[in-house]
Amino acid sequence: MDRGYDLVRRWKKLSNINEYRDVWVFTEIKDHVEVHECALQILGKAREIADKLGQELISVVLALDAEQYLPVIEEHGVDKIIYLNHQDLKHYHERIFTDLVYDLIEKYKPSIFLFPSTEAGNALAARLAYRCRTGLVSDVLDLELSDEFGNNLLIGDKPAYLGNIVAQIICPNTRPQMCTVTMGTFQKTKMRKENVEIMKIDYKFDKSKIKIKILEAPTRKDKPSSTLSDAKFVIGGGHGLVSKENFDKLFDLAKLTNGQVGGTRRPILNGWMPEHLQIGISGESIFSDLYLAFGISGAIQHLVGITASKIIIAINKDPNAGIFKVADYCVIGDANEILEGLLNYFRV
Ligand SMILES: Cc1cc2nc3c(=O)[nH]c(=O)nc-3n(C[C@H](O)[C@H](O)[C@H](O)COP(=O)(O)OP(=O)(O)OC[C@H]3O[C@@H](n4cnc5c(N)ncnc54)[C@H](O)[C@@H]3O)c2cc1C
Repeated sequence: MDRGYDLVRRWKKLSNINEYRDVWVFTEIKDHVEVHECALQILGKAREIADKLGQELISVVLALDAEQYLPVIEEHGVDKIIYLNHQDLKHYHERIFTDLVYDLIEKYKPSIFLFPSTEAGNALAARLAYRCRTGLVSDVLDLELSDEFGNNLLIGDKPAYLGNIVAQIICPNTRPQMCTVTMGTFQKTKMRKENVEIMKIDYKFDKSKIKIKILEAPTRKDKPSSTLSDAKFVIGGGHGLVSKENFDKLFDLAKLTNGQVGGTRRPILNGWMPEHLQIGISGESIFSDLYLAFGISGAIQHLVGITASKIIIAINKDPNAGIFKVADYCVIGDANEILEGLLNYFRV
């Protein structure tokens, strides 16, 4: 028998899906100082899903001094918080977090489990999905419930083939149904349920299981923080600007107009722009009053990061460019000429 088929059969056997219920969110603590913004955003969507299912929304927290984060989480619509508090949970640790959360899944059997698409969230979700022999959809654009393929199945929308299609991915036979969600995909909703249940789990971990010795406490070599998501005016650049010299002019325009430069993945690959300024599914989402896009085609991976902007003005020489489908104002023309014109206008 084909090995893949055999595995699927084994996985199906392991999971009696009717035993699983409730919607869980891995509520990551960022740098052991605050609840990750992306986790709070996910709680908003998860609340909606839990309400439709008539089930509970449960936040899972693993941290040092975890109690200090609970009041913030309680303000975001949860029915219950399950938390562990221990010195070993100060930093994300692959083995410890995976073992502890896996034990919780085994015991309480969530039907849906959502994770922020962060370094820790992605790593943890992938390891748990493997251990649970279940599926994982990464970086979903949207989540909805549908009866089309089974009772109240979670559908994760996921761009594929360079964004030319959006695949709807389901996990019909195994549980939990797991997804990671990028920052900015959903909106935070502040609401407090009455009588939020708080459940503390005792920390028990056999350290002899750890095969890797950490010699120094991890130091973050994070990308510099970007202010893109707070910026009111964002100037975006793409491959259509043709050269680094042209791209640099975006920064001149930003200085003159109090704007913030961002862009697509292409200028990063071209070496024109640092990675932390990427806008889109694997970068930042923007919520600006105005987004001015120069020489950007409008790939879905970029569009998902800009649609929350109030007004989008796109400049592209191709009248059929995809970005024109979402732009409020479409300027068909040479991006470099228009950029130069704007610079001259603001310089005087
Ligand atoms: C897993 C994955 C994740 C990704 N994540 C992201 C992400 O987060 N963000 C992101 O942006 N991309 C992301 N991408 C890449 C994305 O698919 C596209 O490749 C990218 O957005 C295209 O960038 P672009 O529009 O600058 O370049 P292109 O697609 O090459 O478009 C250039 C545009 O410029 C126009 N143009 C050319 N010359 C001129 C001119 N003189 N004047 C005006 N217009 C001109 C062209 O008509 C064209 O429309 C990801 C891809 C993958 C596979």
